[in-house]
Amino acid sequence: MTRSLGGAELATSIRHDASVAAAALTDLGIRPRLAVVLATDDESTAWYVRSIAAAAKRTGILCDIVDLGASATTGQIHGTLVELGHDPDVHGIILQTPLPDGTDLDALREAINPAKDVDGANPVSLGRLVARLPAFAPATAQAVIELLDHHGISPHGRTAAVVGRSTVVGSPVAHLLVQRNATVTVCHRHTTDLAAGTRDADILVVAVGIPGLITADHVADGAVVIDVGTTATADGRLLGDVDAAGVDRRAGALTPVPGGVGPVTTALLIAHTVDAAATQHAQTRSDSVLAGFRSGV
Ligand code: ADP
Repeated sequence: MTRSLGGAELATSIRHDASVAAAALTDLGIRPRLAVVLATDDESTAWYVRSIAAAAKRTGILCDIVDLGASATTGQIHGTLVELGHDPDVHGIILQTPLPDGTDLDALREAINPAKDVDGANPVSLGRLVARLPAFAPATAQAVIELLDHHGISPHGRTAAVVGRSTVVGSPVAHLLVQRNATVTVCHRHTTDLAAGTRDADILVVAVGIPGLITADHVADGAVVIDVGTTATADGRLLGDVDAAGVDRRAGALTPVPGGVGPVTTALLIAHTVDAAATQHAQTRSDSVLAGFRSGV
């Protein structure tokens, strides 16, 4: 019988802790605020952004949806990110993809203030993560690790396969698993024999965006399978990358889609924003103390 690794309980607990911290900050006059920048008409993106805003509201933090429209240019988006980066009332910034064709995503990621980069999108955050320095990890990648922890599954000494090598999910997940002492294989679109890369893994993480890509042939008996994929269908369903019906009974444990990694990701974005607000507040206070000291006040 395959165990279902749901994320709802963990998400509730992360949001609870974040709401306690947010209330304490609010008492000090700092209301954590998240800004989500988007530039698309895509309905599944709009749905995701609404779910972030709803989670923020429930946690007691402010969330601004900055919708620049599907014809926004790199310059417009860049200007908005820089402005938000300087705004002392904004503590967290998310740049939502997809962006309009032709926009320079790499340049835009670099325009996110690293102190407010709650989804670990700026290469500075990714570099610090790989260097094992404090940084916000991409929320989805961190959600995978937290979900394993929550369900008592340790990567230590185990083999893991990650399918997908994007900078937002596959690559950071692979690094985080190595940091947890797993031996990791990374597969991607040029992997000629995908099953050969995945079928011996104790832990299989799939972040590709192709519904049903992973079948029973790709999975070891008893493996832990984490399905990060979420593809929205025209009739409003959400499909994972794993053929759950086929993998059921072969896998030892499998995350549901929806209800697995997704809710944990959203909760972590909120928690990161609260952390960012606390850090920025502490920073401002020590700066003003220092400023007073320097000016001899
Ligand atoms: P995400 O944002 O979910 O990480 P991306 O579209 O950025 O998705 O990246 C998709 C990843 O999936 C890429 O790293 C790509 O190499 C990988 N990928 C795409 N097709 C396949 C495939 N058939 N087999 C294995 N990996 C694939």
